[in-house]
Amino acid sequence: EQTAAALSSLSPAELETFLESQRTAYADLQERGLTLDLTRGKPSVAQLDLSNELLELPRGHKDASGTDVRNYGGLSGIAELRAMFADLLWVEPEQVVAGGNSSLTMMHDCLVQLLLHGAPDSPRPWSQEETVKFVCPVPGYDRHFTMLASYGIEMLTVPMNEDGPDVAAVRELVKDPAVKGMWIVPTYANPSGSTCSQEVASELASMETAAPDFRIFWDNAYAFHHLTEDEAKSADIITLASGSGHPNRPIMFASTSKITFAGSGVAFLAASKANVDWYLGHQQFASIGPDKVNQLRHVQFFGSADGVREHMRKHREILGPKFAAVDSALSSALDGREVATWSKPTGGYFVNLDVLDGTASRVVELAKGAGIALTPAGASFPHGKDPRDRNIRLAPSFPVLAEVETAMAGVATCVLLAAAEKLAG
Ligand code: PLP
Repeated sequence: EQTAAALSSLSPAELETFLESQRTAYADLQERGLTLDLTRGKPSVAQLDLSNELLELPRGHKDASGTDVRNYGGLSGIAELRAMFADLLWVEPEQVVAGGNSSLTMMHDCLVQLLLHGAPDSPRPWSQEETVKFVCPVPGYDRHFTMLASYGIEMLTVPMNEDGPDVAAVRELVKDPAVKGMWIVPTYANPSGSTCSQEVASELASMETAAPDFRIFWDNAYAFHHLTEDEAKSADIITLASGSGHPNRPIMFASTSKITFAGSGVAFLAASKANVDWYLGHQQFASIGPDKVNQLRHVQFFGSADGVREHMRKHREILGPKFAAVDSALSSALDGREVATWSKPTGGYFVNLDVLDGTASRVVELAKGAGIALTPAGASFPHGKDPRDRNIRLAPSFPVLAEVETAMAGVATCVLLAAAEKLAG
C-alpha cells in the first residue's frame, strides 16, 4: 500500500486539489448531522454497570472494628479500606486517609490550608508570601490549572516528557523560593499518557528546593488504569522522598472515581504521618467524618487489593478497543501526511493529539461545526493558552465504540482540512 504524501511536499496545484477534496469530505461529514461528545474523561455506561452491585451494598452496617458506619465519626476513614489502598499505593495504613467522593476536593483542601495556615515546615502561610508559584508540566490536567488560577497562583510550565516532567527544567525553577509546589499526574498522565520513571521521581524527591515547604501534588488518579497487559508501575514517591530527607514533600491523591462510580466513589490522600496529621488537623473543623456507608460498600465490593486489580481488567476490556479505534482512525487518515502526531497510551483516559502548529483551535471549531464536541484547544495549558495552538485532548471513554470510530474519522478530516487551509495560506 502506498503511503500518502506529506502535505508540505505537495505542489501549489496539488495542494489546491487536496484542499478541495477535504472541503468536500467535510461537507459530507456535516451532512451526517452527528452529535458526538469526546470532551471529558467520563466512564461509559457499560463501565458504570460493572459496579452495579454497589447499589445493593453494604450488607450490614458495621465495619471490622464493630463501628456503626451509619453514625458520625472516623475522620480518617474505615480501617479496612485504608489498609486495602495502602497496599495498592505502597504505604502504611496510617499514612492513608479515606475521604469523600472526590480527590480533587482533597487537593483543593490541601491547597487552601497551605494558603491560610501553611504547613508545619512553612515560614508563614503561603498567602502571606508576595507571590506563590507552581511548576506545571504541560500538557496537563485543566482542573489543576484552573484551581491555581482561582487563587492567583502563578504557573510556570515545563514540558511533560515520555518519562515524566523535564526534571532539569524543574530543578532550575525550584531555586526560586516563591516556587512552593508542583503538580504531577505520575501514571498515565492526563492527557499525554506518559508515566513518570523511577529516575525522574527520584530526582523530584531529592532535588534541592529554595522553599523549605515545597510540596509535590502527586495526583495518581490513573494508578491502576491499564489499557494493556504491560502494566506501568508508579514510582514510590513517598519512600523516595523520605529516603532523601524530604518526607513531607509529596502528597499523593487517588480515588475510585474511574474504578467504581465517578460521582460516588471514595477518594484517598496518602503522605507522611506528619502530613496526614496536618491534613486531618485542619479537616476536623470541616467534617465529623466521611461517608462510611459508601466506604464499607467499597470494601465489600472489592474484597481485597487484588479485587481492585481484577476489577480494573474489566474496564480494560471495554476501554482497550476504543483506544485502538482512535489510533486506527487517525493512522489510516493521517499516516504520511506529517500534519499530526498522537500518543498511543497504555493506560489512563486520554489520547494527546498534536496537530500542525496554529491549527488546533481551527480543528476544534471545524469538529464542532460537524457535531463533534472536542475539549477546547489549549485546555491542557495554564489559562487555556497553548503557545503553539497545536494540542487537542481526546477523551474516547464515554461514547460507545461505533461512535468513537465515527467521531475519530471525522476529527481526522478536520485535521487535514485545517492543515491544508493553513498550508494553502
Ligand atoms: N485528577 C486527574 C488527573 C483527573 O483526570 C481527574 C478526573 O478527570 C481527577 C483528578 C478527578 O478526580 P476525582 O473524581 O477523584 O475528584
